Amino acid sequence: MSDLPASPRFVVVGAGIHGLSTAYHLARELRTRGLGSGRDVVVLEKSEPGAGASGIACGVVRNNYFQPAMSELMQACVEVWESDPAAYAYNPVGYMALGPAVQESDLAATHERQERIGYRSTLVTGEVEVDAYMKRLFPDWRARGVTALLHEHQGGFAFNRESVLGLAGKCREEDVEILTGVEVRALELEGDGTVSAVETSRGRIQVGEQLVLAPGPWAKRFWAMLELPMTIDVRTPSGEVVRDRPMWTYWNLQEGEIAVDPAMFATADGGAPPVIHLDTDAPLSTDEGELLTDELWGIYYKRDRHGVQGGASPLVVDGEVELDPYPATTDVDPGFRDMWCAALSHAMSRFEGCRSLYKMARSGGVGAFTADNFPVFDYMRPNAYAILDSNHGYKMIGVGREVAKVLVGDHSSLLYPFRFERFATGDLHPVSHSPYPWS
Ligand SMILES: Cc1cc2nc3c(=O)[nH]c(=O)nc-3n(C[C@H](O)[C@H](O)[C@H](O)COP(=O)(O)OP(=O)(O)OC[C@H]3O[C@@H](n4cnc5c(N)ncnc54)[C@H](O)[C@@H]3O)c2cc1C
Repeated sequence: MSDLPASPRFVVVGAGIHGLSTAYHLARELRTRGLGSGRDVVVLEKSEPGAGASGIACGVVRNNYFQPAMSELMQACVEVWESDPAAYAYNPVGYMALGPAVQESDLAATHERQERIGYRSTLVTGEVEVDAYMKRLFPDWRARGVTALLHEHQGGFAFNRESVLGLAGKCREEDVEILTGVEVRALELEGDGTVSAVETSRGRIQVGEQLVLAPGPWAKRFWAMLELPMTIDVRTPSGEVVRDRPMWTYWNLQEGEIAVDPAMFATADGGAPPVIHLDTDAPLSTDEGELLTDELWGIYYKRDRHGVQGGASPLVVDGEVELDPYPATTDVDPGFRDMWCAALSHAMSRFEGCRSLYKMARSGGVGAFTADNFPVFDYMRPNAYAILDSNHGYKMIGVGREVAKVLVGDHSSLLYPFRFERFATGDLHPVSHSPYPWS
């Protein structure tokens, strides 16, 4: 006999940021609208909360997106982070994006939109002006080739596992059951595509009403279980149709840490530093003078509990990835440590010589990306809603709030631009000048 609930109304798969946020907000929607309670919602997790990408994420929360729909959605997400900073282990230190001339127009457009939607930020342009602004905050600032800066006064970062556990706690307070150690192995599809049941490692669970899939990097497996095509045709905004584009690709996110006293990375007045994202085309050399690159490069970094943590551009992974055990980081570029430490030193002299302080830590991991590198939030079967964030999503804690509204029958204008249909209609998101697939 299985000890699993026989037929919960709502079955959510995955206890990462999206599955838990959806379960929590859905429980609240049901209760406050008199439609039910958290007892109608069950979360299935094959391992434990935070075992996937949400538990390894750098935790950066920012609005800096060139795409209007991403930026507007992110504003709603920051609202959720700000609603309970203690439970979400959220540090509202702000975020800075610094870029070379080629990115200036993107940053200016983003700033303009942020002003319009009421997201607090400052734009600085001109090499001298940017340098002066940065030196006021960090007197040892010395990065070159930066002509634009967007300082977001909202956003910052959150501690990854703590925030997931905070959400899990909120779910339990709403009487949502989180079943750990239950792996979903198959979905039972009816003739009309409705998912009637999920087969798990501990038995079968009937789907009472709706299924929510929030599988993070395991997206492709669930895509297959839903019997959806692995290649799709994509219509570009100009009307051209690109045939047989792979729906899923993997990128390896390279991240690392240096073990320093966190207090050494503070602003001039001793305050907590914003998260910094620096892109530049100035030549990058090691502290010993060896040239590493003279092409566009970028890094991001933040103060962490044990030092300074951050990353650089991700690497495409060819072919399939063995995701278990996650984070599957076997492929990481051996040059990453030299590059990231040299870049820290390029930015601020306090990091000179930090290469010897690089620490092997549980950092970095694989992400699954869609055909256009933007999320798909949509019903992929009549009663199966999929949250497939294309690795944008730790910061997207508010997506679950929007999905909950959709599950009880409302429309979400914030999620609408992320419908799957966009690949066929050509309503794609604009592409920025950033080297990152997530900007
Ligand atoms: C190294 C790295 C750094 C990142 N940094 C940032 C960042 O700074 N800011 C940001 O916004 N985003 C960041 N991201 C992206 C972000 O982490 C993800 O987009 C987000 O966490 C995905 O959340 P999720 O809930 O969809 O997936 P996950 O957190 O992966 O959760 C999915 C859950 O599903 C479970 N599961 C999988 N298969 C099954 C199954 N068959 N049955 C039952 N359960 C199953 C897994 O165990 C897992 O717990 C980063 C990603 C990586 C890899």
